Amino acid sequence: MTESLFSEATQRLEEALNYVSIPEDVVEHLKYPKHSLQVSIPVRMDDGSLEIFQGYRVRYENTRGPTKGGVRYHENVSMDEVKSLAFWMTFKCAALDIPFGGAKGGIALNPKSLSRLELERLSRGYIDAIADFIGPDVDIPAPDMYTNQMIMGWMMDQYSIIKRQITRAVVTGKPISMGGSLGRDTATGTGAMATIETIMPRFKPLRGDTTVAIQGFGNVGSTLARLMCELGYRVVAVSDSKGGIFSRMGLDIPSIIKYKQANSGQVANGSKSQSLQPVYCEGSVCNVVEHSVITNEELLELDVDILVPAALENQITIHNADRIQARFIFEVANGPTTPEADQILNKRGIRVFPDILVNAGGVTVSYFEWVQNRSGLYWSLDEVNSRLKERMVRETESIWAIAESKGIPMRTAAYVHALDRIGEAIRAKGTRD
Ligand code: GLU
Repeated sequence: MTESLFSEATQRLEEALNYVSIPEDVVEHLKYPKHSLQVSIPVRMDDGSLEIFQGYRVRYENTRGPTKGGVRYHENVSMDEVKSLAFWMTFKCAALDIPFGGAKGGIALNPKSLSRLELERLSRGYIDAIADFIGPDVDIPAPDMYTNQMIMGWMMDQYSIIKRQITRAVVTGKPISMGGSLGRDTATGTGAMATIETIMPRFKPLRGDTTVAIQGFGNVGSTLARLMCELGYRVVAVSDSKGGIFSRMGLDIPSIIKYKQANSGQVANGSKSQSLQPVYCEGSVCNVVEHSVITNEELLELDVDILVPAALENQITIHNADRIQARFIFEVANGPTTPEADQILNKRGIRVFPDILVNAGGVTVSYFEWVQNRSGLYWSLDEVNSRLKERMVRETESIWAIAESKGIPMRTAAYVHALDRIGEAIRAKGTRD
């Protein structure tokens, strides 16, 4: 990652400012994160050696409420990336009218190289290092790439040990048995599906005629692929970090999910014999051999109706935007399209539905989890999903209306929508320094 990701992220702010009246002082505040923390986390490895990992937590803006955002475990994690992701979380929470500010965290590591015990020591060490920076009314971590329920459970437990009281609302995305919410694991996919279903009937009423390519087959990409398949969309290509598969007739998503689960299943917590094994193992959709194998780059350029980037940032750039053939892009990943690529896509009439709307289902159900933890009253899966869908549809319609009335792209409209809410909160609070 280079220093440019954050400046690219803040360019979105500049674009939206042309369409919203907001005092210059407020804008200045929004250009910088409120707090940035970098920590060194010493971990005793299984072979007895000591390794020091670099961890980060950025709390970007907290006027609308405690800051909220996931923790990412990946080699590319850097202060620049975490800052950008925290910036996006700020606008995502505001766009969905969630009473939180934005934050993000991460640890630079190859998650596939650590055993379960090493990963547990690292995750608990991260919480030891950032405990004074987080809290149910301060900043609330959650899962992101290569972090899952099990890791959130360790993090909540570690925080509770430090504070000497069970503090469920400090972390979301926890195991159900530790106060997690039903529907949190499928929330991002379910939310994206609600946005797609709000938009697509305006353009293409017949789902069976609508072809889809999905880049990324982790928790979110695979959930969305399954939901789209269930509704009758024709998912013709999917991929993971090793590459992708393509079939013009449509892929059998349930059997690919089964294959992937069987071959890259995550090791469960507490299993003694497996605690020295990595939690994240190899195993790729590419090995489902009856389909033609394609690269991740080829997948992005397929002639499909809908393209869903659901992996890393910076996938659609100045180098390939001219060759994108999809008519609609729904960004399930954070930051998959660069600002230059956006301009090219806009000129070519390709409609881009932005990350801060499309993938907001995850943080929305995180908010529901936090509410349930604080009230002590737990909701049914139907209740969670119907509240999630209602909010996704409502905010998608509002952003659509802004885009139509001002004649601007959906991304700019989403930022305008979010900025209105953030600006109002900062104004209501009065002078700050
Ligand atoms: N990591 C997810 C995101 O990027 C979820 C964050 C959360 O649940 O707080 O939106």
